[in-house]
This record gives sequence, C-alpha cells and structure tokens, in this order.
Amino acid sequence: MDFGLNEQQEMMQTLARDFLAGEYPNKVLKAMVKDEKGCAPELWEKMAEMNLMGLSLPEEYGGVGDFLDLIVVLEEMGRVCFLGPYFSTVAVGAAAIMAGGNKEQREKYLPDIASGKANVTLALTERKVEYEADALQTMTISRGGYFVINGTKLFVPDAQAADFIICAARTGESNGGGDGTTLIIVDRNEPGITMRPLKTVSGEKLYEVIFENVKSSARNVLGEVNHGWRIVEKVLQRANVARCAEMVGLAQQSLNMTLDYAKERIAFGHPIGAFQAIQHRCADMLIDVEGSRFATYQAAWRLNEGLDAAKEAAAAKAWVSRACRRVMTSAHQVHGAIGFTEDHLLHYYTKRALACEFSYGGNDVQLAKLAALYK
Ligand SMILES: Cc1cc2nc3c(=O)[nH]c(=O)nc-3n(C[C@H](O)[C@H](O)[C@H](O)COP(=O)(O)OP(=O)(O)OC[C@H]3O[C@@H](n4cnc5c(N)ncnc54)[C@H](O)[C@@H]3O)c2cc1C
Repeated sequence: MDFGLNEQQEMMQTLARDFLAGEYPNKVLKAMVKDEKGCAPELWEKMAEMNLMGLSLPEEYGGVGDFLDLIVVLEEMGRVCFLGPYFSTVAVGAAAIMAGGNKEQREKYLPDIASGKANVTLALTERKVEYEADALQTMTISRGGYFVINGTKLFVPDAQAADFIICAARTGESNGGGDGTTLIIVDRNEPGITMRPLKTVSGEKLYEVIFENVKSSARNVLGEVNHGWRIVEKVLQRANVARCAEMVGLAQQSLNMTLDYAKERIAFGHPIGAFQAIQHRCADMLIDVEGSRFATYQAAWRLNEGLDAAKEAAAAKAWVSRACRRVMTSAHQVHGAIGFTEDHLLHYYTKRALACEFSYGGNDVQLAKLAALYK
C-alpha cells in the first residue's frame, strides 16, 4: 500500500503552498475576517488563472484534476486559514451541479465556475439544523414552467458573493426517507430574495436568506423533482471529507506554530520544549494530525474512485473533528497566555476548526450516520 501523494498531487501541493504563502499572508486573513463579502477580487482572478476554481471538474467544462487534487489544495488552504467563497463554490456548489445536473445545466454553469466568473452556494439548512430532509420547511410550488419558492434558509455560506443559489425545498410530503424535496438553482438577483449576514465565530460569511415568491424556471431543477435529497446526501459526503482536509491543514499549522513556540519560549532557563510534559503534548498532537490525515485521505480516495464511502466519510468527520479539538486545546496550553491574545494567529485556527466541525453536520450527525449504517 502506498499512502503517499503522487507526482501530480505533490505538484498541486507545492503550487498551492507557494501561491498562498505569497498571496494570502496573515494580514489578508485578518482583512478577510472583517470584510463583508470575505472575497478579494484580485486574489480570485489569480486563483482562477491557476485553474483552482475548476479543480475536480471534468475537462470538458474547463476543469482540471480530480477530487484528491482538490483535497490536497484544501489542506493547504487550511494551513493559512483561508477565508472566501472557494469552499462553498468549488467543493459544494459545483459538486451539487456535477452530482445532479443534466448536460444542459452542466454546460450552463460549470464553465463559468471553472473560469472564476460565477460563484454558487448551497442553501440547505433552516431553523432546525439537522442535515435531514425532514427538517426542510421551505416550500416550492410548480406553476406553469416555473417553481415559486417561499421560506427562510439559515447559515447559507457566502450568499452575498454567490451569483447562483442552489435551494433545497419541499415539493411534497416527507416520507422519512428523504423524498418530497427538490433542489433548484436560483439566480441570486431574482426579485424576492433578501439576505442578512449572521455573526460568526471565525469570520466566515454565513447568511440568512429569505425567499418570498421567488421564481425559478423548471429547467433549473437539479435531478428529479421530489428526489433532491439523494443529491444532497452525495454532496454532504464530499463536503464533509473536504472539510476534514481543511481541518487537517488547520491542525498541522497549529502544531507547527506550537513547535516553534516550544523551541523559542524560555521558562526557568530552558525552552519549554525541553520539558517532557510539553514534548508529550506535542507528540500527541502529531498523532492526532497524522491520524486525521489518514482518515481524510482514505475517505477522499474512496470518493475519488467512485466507491461507497458513507462509513469512511462519517468516521473521518467524527474523528478529525475531535482530534482537531484536542490539537487546538494542546496548542493553547503550550502557548500559555500569548495564545489567548487577539494579535496571535492561534485563535483564528481554533475558531475556524470549530466552524468546520459544525458545518455540513457535526459530531452527533456523523455518529448517528455511523450508527444507522450498522443497525
Ligand atoms: C485571561 C488572562 C488574564 C491574565 N491576567 C493576568 C494578570 O492580571 N496579571 C498577570 O500578571 N498575568 C495575567 N495573565 C497571565 C498569566 O499569569 C499567564 O497566562 C500564566 O502565568 C501562564 O504564563 P505564560 O503565558 O508565560 O506561560 P508559560 O509559563 O510560558 O507556559 C507555557 C506552557 O509551558 C508549560 N511550562 C512552563 N514551564 C514549565 C516547566 N518548567 N515544566 C513543564 N512545563 C512548563 C506551561 O504549563 C504551559 O503549558 C493572564 C492570562 C490570561 C490568559
């Protein structure tokens, strides 16, 4: 068994690492946290030129590479605590169009996503954030070639920066098995859409999006009417594994910062890293980072190969989330008081890791999925 990256993946890793080191220094991160849209247009253009927006999309739509290449890049983005609508557009929105879109829809949306011209987000969760079809209350009714949407979506990522919103809405009675839901692509400028930014812990941009009699053509339905949840489930698996990759990057960089600090911080005449208590903490952090990486790449590889990955994806998200919490706790312990300050970067990493943990289904959701698989 070879657990290493292949030549192309190593190239992507180096490319992304060098690019982000140059274009996404800490001051950009701090600016993005405060920026309303969290998206710098010049940075976006450069990312599009590098074809990062087309990662994991087929070549015929302007894409390049596969899901594992995307995972490698997302790990690098985690290392710099990258903010912006990349994840919502490439790892989730484009994945939904690939999973459920017909030829016409793919041709219409994917080339613009791949070239960086269009951003797309998935509006899934509502007041009951359960990642279950039954929790959806937003309704859409078919009216002569159109669907009319009414309802309120919560925690919609990067809605302000999106050109299109993929809305999950109810079109029929819930049957407990996911039927009765439909995914429909809506132009963000359609009359009747209003959005309000929500306060978030890590500076990521989440919105409340209200749909009031919003129209969208029936041609924009992804997959089949009433069977949209099948697409959502596929997308959630990818999104969760992609989030794991981001968390691996966050944890790796927090470990790197902690090792540097343990070597330079002198207490009682020695660097604190000379003390066994600190060494053991750092070794435990390393085990968690490496374990997280293996769990993530195993699940990602199965998805990339088109194999069933329900178990691996849920196990990876549950494992990585908890491992990441341990890593962040240790990082703060070793950093002492400095890690609590606003000026230090560590708090961005800790907060982002928590945000990653909860998005697309937190620990409880993943454990419930695993339990259901072994019923
Ligand atoms: C919210 C907050 C409020 C504060 N308010 C005040 C205040 O009002 N006044 C004030 O004076 N200070 C204040 N502090 C600072 C506080 O006293 C320090 O955070 C605390 O003493 C830790 O010191 P340090 O950051 O220098 O960590 P360090 O002493 O550098 O410790 C860093 C890490 O190294 C470990 N370590 C250190 N020495 C050894 C050793 N010999 N062997 C093994 N491990 C070791 C520690 O356990 C820790 O994990 C405050 C801190 C916080 C977070």
